[in-house]
Amino acid sequence: MTATIIDGKQIAKDIRQELKGEIEALKQKGMTPGLAVILVGEDQASQTYVRNKDKACVEVGIHSEIYRYPADLTEAELLEKVQELNEDENIHGILVQLPLPSHISEDKVIDAISPEKDVDGFHPVNVGKMSIGKEAFYSCTPYGIIKMLEKENISLEGKHVVVVGRSNIVGKPAALLSLQESATVTVCHSRTKDLSSFTKQADVVIAAVGKAKFLKAEDFKPGAIVIDVGMNRDENGKLCGDVDFESAKEVAGAITPVPGGVGPMTITMLLFNTVQSVKQKSAMVASK
Ligand code: NDP
Repeated sequence: MTATIIDGKQIAKDIRQELKGEIEALKQKGMTPGLAVILVGEDQASQTYVRNKDKACVEVGIHSEIYRYPADLTEAELLEKVQELNEDENIHGILVQLPLPSHISEDKVIDAISPEKDVDGFHPVNVGKMSIGKEAFYSCTPYGIIKMLEKENISLEGKHVVVVGRSNIVGKPAALLSLQESATVTVCHSRTKDLSSFTKQADVVIAAVGKAKFLKAEDFKPGAIVIDVGMNRDENGKLCGDVDFESAKEVAGAITPVPGGVGPMTITMLLFNTVQSVKQKSAMVASK
């Protein structure tokens, strides 16, 4: 059996097309969505992410502002900039690219972003709301997974979802959102004993480990849906996921490739959240 390949790139493209229409309609009402991205330091991967986010904004018609600072920016200066953007009427989403230099507290900076503009979904208010099933900005990668499954008509209701990884930005929110979709959820991590015995029971595996080709065909139940969040380099320096795609696709029922799976959905959900932010603001103004 060869798995259905879930084309995240195409799904992301379709959602961006829908967003483009919504943004056009918002602009006609005098509201242009605005996203501000703050980048501190010279980290190469971060530079690439920020460039890609800017490009994606421009493509759909979101006004994008990038603030680049040297690595020696002080925490106080960064907090001041966040505050200024919190008060900026033209900005609906604020994103501080992580990681930050070690002298700056990421927690302090995330806490300083207004929850109404926290389109990354990292602020404790948004995380808390998500965990009790309230409307909020959800973390983009796990939210992208849920949207992708929705677009593929794959329901999580009653399914056993095994999430491998428990980070605050991927594993934990992926587990919470799956639970919200009425899945039965198991979360595995580095201290899990006999990991394979869990993944083999799963109807859906979400792999967010950060280790190249870590899960292989023998770790999955035949027909399982395999969602690969990992972005790693293999022994030849080639981009690959946490799943050994070549072997897993012979066992899985459906699988996301790397690249072209979860990755394109992440930025798409950032755009989605930014548009939501504008809509929420306009609804608030209308109800006053
Ligand atoms: P983290 O390093 O923060 O978390 C990795 C998780 O994997 C941890 O919870 C860790 O467990 C667990 N883990 C590590 N080793 C094992 C093991 N041997 N067995 C079981 N679990 C293990 O990574 P992130 O969650 O931030 O990212 C995960 C991957 O997803 C990375 O490859 C990253 O690049 C990618 N990523 C991709 C995105 C996209 O848009 N496609 C977006 C964000 C991330 P413990 O907690 O016990 O240490």
